[in-house]
Amino acid sequence: MTDPIHEKDLIESTLQDVHGAASRYLARLDDLPAKDPQADALAREFEGELPEDGLGSLEALKALLGRGQIAATRSAGPRFFHFVIGGSTPAALAADWFASALDNNAGLWVSSPLAAQLEKVSLAWLKDLFGLPNQWGGVLVTGATMANFTALAAARQWCGERHGVDVARDGLAGLPPVAVLSSGFIHASAVKALGMLGLGYGSVRRLAADAAGRIDLEALERSLVSLRGAPAIVIATAGEVNAGGFDPIEAMVDVAHRHNAWLHVDGAFGLYARLSPRLAHLAAGMELVDSVISDGHKWLNVPYDSGFAFVRDERLLHAVFGIGAPYFPEAIAGRPDYLMLGPEMSRRARSIAVWATLAAYGRSGYREMVERHVQLARRLADQVNAADDFELIEEPVLNVVCFRYRPGGVSDDELDELNRRLGQAVIDDGRVYFGTTVYAGKVAFRPAISNWRTSDVEVDEILPIARELGARLRAGAAT
Ligand SMILES: *Cc1c(COP(=O)(O)O)cnc(C)c1O
Repeated sequence: MTDPIHEKDLIESTLQDVHGAASRYLARLDDLPAKDPQADALAREFEGELPEDGLGSLEALKALLGRGQIAATRSAGPRFFHFVIGGSTPAALAADWFASALDNNAGLWVSSPLAAQLEKVSLAWLKDLFGLPNQWGGVLVTGATMANFTALAAARQWCGERHGVDVARDGLAGLPPVAVLSSGFIHASAVKALGMLGLGYGSVRRLAADAAGRIDLEALERSLVSLRGAPAIVIATAGEVNAGGFDPIEAMVDVAHRHNAWLHVDGAFGLYARLSPRLAHLAAGMELVDSVISDGHKWLNVPYDSGFAFVRDERLLHAVFGIGAPYFPEAIAGRPDYLMLGPEMSRRARSIAVWATLAAYGRSGYREMVERHVQLARRLADQVNAADDFELIEEPVLNVVCFRYRPGGVSDDELDELNRRLGQAVIDDGRVYFGTTVYAGKVAFRPAISNWRTSDVEVDEILPIARELGARLRAGAAT
């Protein structure tokens, strides 16, 4: 078997193999540990030379469906609380499979009317869902990192225009350094985006009022005043990754706009607070900012990779990303070409899964899921508060619970090391999955609840497993 053209009549059987294996896998997923103990070893078995003569699809697929499946984490399942990771809803998963079958390039309307139209509709629906003005520009990208990049590129262009410079065309050399201000909540991906944009990831000034990183609003105002009207960028975070905290968006946008600054909000998962009347106060004022981004592959529960950027002034996205080529068709009103609004030219048709999941579950389905997850976080926090061997670091406001192991008889200065070792033990054990962070100067756990499958059954496993592994660690240390 060499040239794939000889395999045309194998498509049905390869897809049937995958369908069978995936269906059986997903049917067991609620009962499986978050990671198989053999995963690391089986992953390493994928090695060897590039084959001169291929195995053919059926043989190649066999390895993936067999040991490949065990080497993967069950991040699609209900026990994966590490990072902030969503699963794939039934509608999103099925639509994403179909998107691969269609294999359309979502760059231009002519390359896929379906993908372009569904992107337009999805972005309009997402703005509606998040309560953002419908005339804002938007684009689908690979995730919150590239969404931060895209929106901050618009911010950079805006700063350049204030100085009379077209940064996209002429670069940054003609500009004074652009001040970038944030709280301690700023996410690593926004910092990375600043580096990629030539603004310098070292340029961000974190104006924190406390060890957790909460914004010092007076320091923000003082810093902006000292710039004497020079354009600046303020980055706010809605949903901090360690404990789920929110920067005060309304207060920050007010200060920013009084002093000629652009306010960008990273709402990778926190923007979803706006789906619930009970939680919306956390992210109030979002309709007043200049740009805001979020993730699809986290709380929307669509497959990787999927994120969205929204910018108040769509013209700025065109100014940065709207670089044409002689082989592109002429722009036609009502036939959007999304490669002109974002960093990629050829693009996966991510809109297909986003559209399908929003069509399938609607506003109320997502509101219910978000509220259910927030209640589960509350449930876990209550269990932590009731336990005498665990300590809540911060009352959860959303879906992340920041706590640590604190059994009797362990001194304060041993706690960081104990929690770090317990975090590793949880990962090695694999029944449930979450890691450690450092928040407010303490090593702590930060399980996040964002998978559509997760219920109280799995959340209730977290503390008993951590307790069991913690006791084992301490018994081992004592011998
Ligand atoms: C996850 C996250 C990001 C990065 O998102 P990716 O989808 O991994 O690129 C950025 N900001 C916040 C607040 C996040 O939680």
